[in-house]
Amino acid sequence: MIDHMFGKITLSIIKPDAVKKGYVVPILSQIVQSGFHILAIKMTELSKQSAKKFYSEHKKKSFFESLITFMSSGPIVSIILEKENAVKDFRILIGDTNPIHAKKGTIRNLYASSLEKNAIHGSDSNQNAFKECFFYFSNREIFLKS
Ligand code: AMP
Repeated sequence: MIDHMFGKITLSIIKPDAVKKGYVVPILSQIVQSGFHILAIKMTELSKQSAKKFYSEHKKKSFFESLITFMSSGPIVSIILEKENAVKDFRILIGDTNPIHAKKGTIRNLYASSLEKNAIHGSDSNQNAFKECFFYFSNREIFLKS
């Protein structure tokens, strides 16, 4: 179990736009160089049904259908990352949801092309980080440092 990791992990997804453009390696390098450890990683693809489940909190939003179509349009890379203050620090590293507002040098500033096709996901709270980690990974697929 990884219960003792609460507050120290976050779930990231390199989204279909960034995978298609060949940005997986530069994005992973930036993440690791920023002090995050990879505890689990997989390239996978979301069905429309899984994408709807993952983004269910947005189901009433105008952009929901488009988001589901986009997120199930090709391979993604899902990653569990560990660091002190992982959720907060990772959101700083990826930058604002809208790349127009993302600070220079952030992952979205460098690799995102629009508000929807914004290259990368990061959990927004410690509770959601745990929920999202177990959406993509089983306990057996998570490798702790020691
Ligand atoms: P979040 O849960 O905040 O990560 O939002 C989910 C994703 O929905 C974002 O990362 C964007 O890809 C997309 N999104 C958020 N707001 C909008 C919007 N106003 N229009 C289109 N896509 C959006």
